[in-house]
Amino acid sequence: MKYAHRIDGSEKIRLKDFKADDTRGVTREEGEREALALGEELVELQELLYAASDRSVLIVLQGRDTSGKDGTIRYLTSPLSASGCDVASFKAPVGEELTHDFLWRVHKATPGRGEMRIFNRSYYEDVLVVRVHNLVPENVWKKRYEHINNFENMLVDAGTIILKFYLHIDAEEQEERLLKREQEATKFWKLSVGDWEEREYWDSYTEAYEAVMNKCSSPQAAWYIVPANKKWFRNIAIARAIAEQLRPFKDDWLRVLETRGANELKRIKEFRSAHKT
Ligand code: AMP
Ligand code: MG
Repeated sequence: MKYAHRIDGSEKIRLKDFKADDTRGVTREEGEREALALGEELVELQELLYAASDRSVLIVLQGRDTSGKDGTIRYLTSPLSASGCDVASFKAPVGEELTHDFLWRVHKATPGRGEMRIFNRSYYEDVLVVRVHNLVPENVWKKRYEHINNFENMLVDAGTIILKFYLHIDAEEQEERLLKREQEATKFWKLSVGDWEEREYWDSYTEAYEAVMNKCSSPQAAWYIVPANKKWFRNIAIARAIAEQLRPFKDDWLRVLETRGANELKRIKEFRSAHKT
């Protein structure tokens, strides 16, 4: 059974049809066991990706405030080697970024071959916060869905494997998490009145997210709706989706590495016999 709901463009979704506290009948204990196994598999897949260096992996994380983007990143990056998996965060554009098209800063941040990169927020903000707050005229943001689809298709053609996750929490869970931050001194740095202000726009964000998932999903650049009220379930749902997406490449990668190893071994032997005295 799928833990996260994968959207490949063949259906129209409404967020209200998805339960944010779903755990698909998995208990926390089972989930934590699976998290360990998935972690090991992801490490192996990432090493193969890095060694074969013929593809790159782009993981887009989107979600409302407190939905767990930072926690997901901590979970995913801690077992994965620093050389092969990193993070790019996107805040409101500033300076030179504002003098270019919205994808200019993004393109430079895409992963190169062999790399896996997590986008903490992304170019999707340009049709989310920008749409909700009319930061640019409607006729400008409306065209961006198609620009995004073309951009992602180009990345796919260049060998990028794209996975996009919407961390789905409900309004009650968000309120609880925001209030909890006020109780913990170590979380004070996260406090922001902006989070409470954004909450007032809950329904507009819902519409904006639905538009994103309905307009910008395809088999090669799917969105996943991740039930994210339960942090442990959110983590395994995402890890499982990534493992499922990368697993089909494993045999190819092993073959590439085997051929490369055999060629190198041949050269070493030739070198040795040429240098024999
Ligand atoms: P945080 O993730 O809490 O550090 O906040 C980052 C902020 O940057 C959020 O309020 C986003 O909505 C905002 N942001 C990110 N990308 C854009 C963008 N393209 N345009 C406007 N605001 C953005
Ligand atoms: Mg924030």
